[in-house]
Amino acid sequence: MRDCIFCRIVAGEIPSTKVYEDERYYAFRDINPKAPVHFLVVTREHIGGVADMEGREELLGGLVTTGIRMAAELGLADAGYRLVLNQGADGGQSVPHVHLHVLGGRALAWPPG
Ligand code: AMP
Repeated sequence: MRDCIFCRIVAGEIPSTKVYEDERYYAFRDINPKAPVHFLVVTREHIGGVADMEGREELLGGLVTTGIRMAAELGLADAGYRLVLNQGADGGQSVPHVHLHVLGGRALAWPPG
């Protein structure tokens, strides 16, 4: 989608710090990190949010396992980390293209604000 910032990142039109990519997913560092390690995994396909992934369970599962795999590769497995999928306004979603946050490198507070 032309006016989607994450589609433009996936297309290489907006620079990003890549963590991983394959034919279905692209992962990159969050520009405004909330933890020492904070990256996003997005689908290459434009999908508005996790609520639009009903019937796409395989793609959704791959999004999550890509985050888990990259968290391990970045050394977060032993200490732990957090996976977040914000959905809609109250969920804090600011970019309407499904993205998994992976946060780690410090103890994270709970509950979130
Ligand atoms: P959310 O609020 O869940 O929609 O998360 C969107 C995330 O995208 C935020 O954590 C932003 O910091 C991040 N973000 C926005 N623009 C960029 C960008 N150009 N490169 C990397 N991360 C971005």
